[in-house]
Amino acid sequence: MDFRTGNGYDVHQLAEGLPLVLGGVKIPHTKGCVAHSDGDVLIHALCDALLGALGLGDIGQHFPDTSEEYAGIDSRILLSRVTAMVREAGWEIVNVDNTLLAQRPKIAPFILQMRQALAETMRIPVRSISIKATTTERLGFVGREEGVAAYATCLLRRE
Ligand code: MG
Repeated sequence: MDFRTGNGYDVHQLAEGLPLVLGGVKIPHTKGCVAHSDGDVLIHALCDALLGALGLGDIGQHFPDTSEEYAGIDSRILLSRVTAMVREAGWEIVNVDNTLLAQRPKIAPFILQMRQALAETMRIPVRSISIKATTTERLGFVGREEGVAAYATCLLRRE
């Protein structure tokens, strides 16, 4: 049995009047992420964790933010492509663990929906996907509600 682990981190700036999409779920809020794509910081960190486990670079190399193809793209499409790369390389996803850093809005009511959205996109069981959320106690750029951040870790296995 062979294993690989990977980690990812991403940050997006928040601005008034933009849609907020986190973990594939649109969350009602006055601010959203400034980004070339839909700005789904959680999915971007997760893609980087998976690519890291494969040793295949990062999301920016595979889906450049200079490309019109990815303008406004639903990040679930990026995640499904990265998941396909994992399977094409012969690996199976054991589990993923994500931590979202946001001062506002409250994330807890959306966590199950996010896990379900990621499970559907990655075609793995909901129980294999963990999402936690934390504020930063009003400290730093997250605490000032200038941005949101996410960490992700994954484990891959093959026979
Ligand atoms: Mg990003």
